[in-house]
Amino acid sequence: MDHQEVEIAINGERKIRVPGGKTLLESLKQHKIFVPATCGGRATCAYCKVKTISGFGAVLPTEAPVLSPEETRQGVRLACQVKLQSDVAIELPDALLSTREYRARTDKITDLTYDTKLFHFKLIAPATINYRAGQYIQFLTPEYGHVCESVCRSYSVCGVPTESDRVELMVRLVPEGICTTYMFNRLQEGDEVRFIGPFGDFYVRDSDRRMICIAGGSGMAPIRSMLRSMTQQEIARRKPIFFFGARAKKDLFMIEEWREFERAHPGFRFVPALSRPDPDDRWEGEVGRVTEIIDKYVSDFSNAEGYLCGSPGMLNACVDVLTKMGVPEERIYYDKYD
Ligand SMILES: Cc1cc2nc3c(=O)[nH]c(=O)nc-3n(C[C@H](O)[C@H](O)[C@H](O)COP(=O)(O)OP(=O)(O)OC[C@H]3O[C@@H](n4cnc5c(N)ncnc54)[C@H](O)[C@@H]3O)c2cc1C
Repeated sequence: MDHQEVEIAINGERKIRVPGGKTLLESLKQHKIFVPATCGGRATCAYCKVKTISGFGAVLPTEAPVLSPEETRQGVRLACQVKLQSDVAIELPDALLSTREYRARTDKITDLTYDTKLFHFKLIAPATINYRAGQYIQFLTPEYGHVCESVCRSYSVCGVPTESDRVELMVRLVPEGICTTYMFNRLQEGDEVRFIGPFGDFYVRDSDRRMICIAGGSGMAPIRSMLRSMTQQEIARRKPIFFFGARAKKDLFMIEEWREFERAHPGFRFVPALSRPDPDDRWEGEVGRVTEIIDKYVSDFSNAEGYLCGSPGMLNACVDVLTKMGVPEERIYYDKYD
């Protein structure tokens, strides 16, 4: 069936015309407006929530499980689910309107551990990117092998925003994962890649509070970007402490870089902790989960902020511990790698 053109009014000012019948997500993408989404339209990641003003019907059964009653009242919908049948009006945050699609060259791929690599990309077009330390991009894979559609996956940028002509990503291989298998087994230095962004609201809040940073595995990426972007004075004032959790010594990386950072930045402390060190590790550092050792290093949580990144299980446990220690939930910021 042929659909008529419809109009999308954005923030009451910008108007775009698109063919009707497509999802809001696809239609915005045609105009290079990229709403984050990682589940390929399955309504499971819930990243593509958009505030709608008018023109959409009732909430669909596929949307209902991921929308809270408050979101439903406010007209929030999943852009990957709602289709455009008539003119609509929506609201988008300004930051989303400045996301772009980037082409970049793979400059260097470095092994950090047996299952984690550091990827350096040099931008081709646009030639520079403007992001806040802690934000992420969505990497687009081409079709390869038996994977017959492009997918996009989120990766936090681990470099610093002042190096605006490049993007560094720290990626952990997920067995059978579509994007990471491509990046580990197919992608070569010199290859061109595409990604969109920047996205996310995980960044350092402007305050004088002590920063308690906690990450596991590749969750180090946004924390590295944040801490390396802070000035010497900010570090002296905020006294960040970074707890990095790993299973055994073979899962640790960039330890020397952090020790060097510690020497160069009085006020900063780095605490790696192994949950299950191998006997051969001869590990003399902290043993246990990060949640079990925080109070050995931080005695006063009353004026602290939490910056957490890693798997949902680890994050939930850390939020629990920090709130019990007295850090209000609204002062705990995180990115969950689910
Ligand atoms: C905001 C954000 C930032 C992130 N930043 C980083 C980062 O900096 N570094 C990093 O390493 N990761 C990061 N992640 C995680 C990343 O986005 C991916 O989820 C991860 O790399 C896996 O992607 P993949 O395509 O390789 O795996 P997927 O293909 O998504 O597969 C994930 C799992 O599902 C299984 N699976 C896949 N397809 C099927 C199927 N059809 N049926 C059953 N099971 C299936 C796979 O076996 C695998 O175990 C981030 C996530 C978020 C949300």
